[in-house]
Amino acid sequence: MGNIKGFLEYDRVDAPVVPEQERICNFQEFHGRLSKEEQQKQAARCMNCGVPFCQAGMMIAGMASGCPLHNLVPELNELVEGGNLDLAYRRLSITHSFPEFTSRVCPALCEKACTCGYHQEAVSTKENEKAIIEYAFSEGLVKELTPKIRTGKKVAVVGSGPSGLAAAQLLNSRGHNVTVFERSDRVGGLLRYGIPNMKLDKSVIDRRVKLMEEAGIEFRTNVNVCGAASGNEASKGSGNEASKESGNAELKKSGNTSSKIFGNASGNAVGSISADELRKEYDAIVLCCGASHPRDINAPGRDTEGIYFAVDFLGSVTKALLDNDFDKTSAGVKDIENQVKDKDVIVIGGGDTGNDCVGTCIRLGAKSVTQLEMMPCPPTERLATNPWPEWPRVLKTDYGQEEAIYKFGSDPRVYQTTVKEFISSGKKEKHLKEVVLVSLESKKDEKTGRMMMVPVEGSEKTVPAQLVLIAAGFLGSERYVTDGFGVELDARTNVKTAPGSYAAFSSANAATTTATTDAVATKATSDSINTAATNTDTAATKATAKIYTAGDMHRGQSLVVWAIAEGRNAAREVDRDLMGYTNL
Ligand SMILES: Cc1cc2nc3c(=O)[nH]c(=O)nc-3n(C[C@H](O)[C@H](O)[C@H](O)COP(=O)(O)OP(=O)(O)OC[C@H]3O[C@@H](n4cnc5c(N)ncnc54)[C@H](O)[C@@H]3O)c2cc1C
Ligand code: SF4
Repeated sequence: MGNIKGFLEYDRVDAPVVPEQERICNFQEFHGRLSKEEQQKQAARCMNCGVPFCQAGMMIAGMASGCPLHNLVPELNELVEGGNLDLAYRRLSITHSFPEFTSRVCPALCEKACTCGYHQEAVSTKENEKAIIEYAFSEGLVKELTPKIRTGKKVAVVGSGPSGLAAAQLLNSRGHNVTVFERSDRVGGLLRYGIPNMKLDKSVIDRRVKLMEEAGIEFRTNVNVCGAASGNEASKGSGNEASKESGNAELKKSGNTSSKIFGNASGNAVGSISADELRKEYDAIVLCCGASHPRDINAPGRDTEGIYFAVDFLGSVTKALLDNDFDKTSAGVKDIENQVKDKDVIVIGGGDTGNDCVGTCIRLGAKSVTQLEMMPCPPTERLATNPWPEWPRVLKTDYGQEEAIYKFGSDPRVYQTTVKEFISSGKKEKHLKEVVLVSLESKKDEKTGRMMMVPVEGSEKTVPAQLVLIAAGFLGSERYVTDGFGVELDARTNVKTAPGSYAAFSSANAATTTATTDAVATKATSDSINTAATNTDTAATKATAKIYTAGDMHRGQSLVVWAIAEGRNAAREVDRDLMGYTNL
């Protein structure tokens, strides 16, 4: 701690952002950076307190508090303050795989638990993290570890979101041969086709993936593991199995122009590979397929055209932008824009995904955007029942909402409200014309004693809407993958494991345990990694590759930082099982 009075001398200053009127004209990132000197002052605000909750990453009152990766926050802040960004990068790399992602999109759990934030503004740890990693990239310090010796073990990672990438990175660095299977046309999961470009520029993902490829990781895109192969026109737009499972009638229709527009972010011919084929070919399989099965809205008129799931919409917009080099005049981008321009948009869901839809619709020229939230408006300050360092359950006005306030003059969020009915134009094409909204109130369910949000009789209101985006949360993993691998699910349809473990519960895994234990005993006595690999490379282990899981598929829809933490932990368990010990 270089300056023990830093938090008294300096106020928190955040990096500049591009003003709303400019940023809504494009899809570029809008968060700038502080100068090196100012960043040093901001880091000097760290108190190096005795109990740094910022790096605890523990659950308090059911919510995470502090960094799940256990980044060495006070140490990092001290190094940034002293201008020693080289060492800061090396320290950060001990705990973190991809700081360039979290320093853009993380809700900064560290800052919510910062001791300085108890009395005044928290230390800007997230921006300090960005300063470290962007410095490291600009100086050519960021390299993926290319192992000198390979173990001879093959690991398949299914899904290339942050959890899959993190697992692949560590397993490759250990010397295993890693192949990442991805059903989309590009790598990144929701980093790519969920989080909009203005929050995370997609070149940031490409930059990292290139390094990972150079270090020996193989990425196989357009491969739908356990799914059906598709390649003809009619099946394009159907690659998102979640949409098919959720009963979104419009997206199911082939040959329907609008369904192609907001259907499948991949859109390319998709090949497939079965669970059995993977189990034969690989020594371990890590399922990192996310939790993208969306929650639907069951209201009359749901099959009206013009109603989409948020992730289908956001992914399609990003794909159109990437395919057309961000050229707003291109036919691909124009097609997307025409679905939104001059339309009254209703976003169902008041959370972060809904906010991304608001910001995206404004950029695409929507006439109005309304964001519906079932729950009451949260308080502006922590309640006594929600003390520091718990996650603060307070009102947050995010970038999309700020932009709506600028553009339309009011906050787009309407609380305690949902859609009661979708009304079509009545014409042949059945396009959405209006929605009936209804207010909700909290009432006790006499049977269960639980509080529920129920409609207020007589509160119905009909409003114009030509586009509805459903951002009402997710219902866990997609069944075709979990069925394909025969893994057990918990009540929330996440893949089940023992607490603290990432090995999936499945009958196949139980059979594998015996074979793997024998193999590990052989390995543990071997001096050479290569010899161990040869000794254990038996038909028995190959035919019964153990299955692991990480990320949203394991813990339910969550955060990028948690996905990275899970991917890293799963990699350690895989490595221990394959090699008898782990040094990851
Ligand atoms: C719109 C939106 C915005 C978000 N914004 C933020 C944010 O700002 N900050 C934050 O921290 N978190 C955010 N999140 C949450 C965060 O993106 C996720 O928690 C995180 O991406 C989960 O990572 P994952 O690796 O577990 O899964 P995912 O990122 O979902 O990746 C899963 C991958 O598996 C692939 N896949 C699935 N099935 C198969 C198959 N059968 N074969 C091959 N590949 C398959 C999918 O195509 C996908 O690429 C957001 C989520 C959404 C939906
Ligand atoms: S990953 Fe997120 S929680 Fe962890 S230090 Fe960075 S910003 Fe904070």
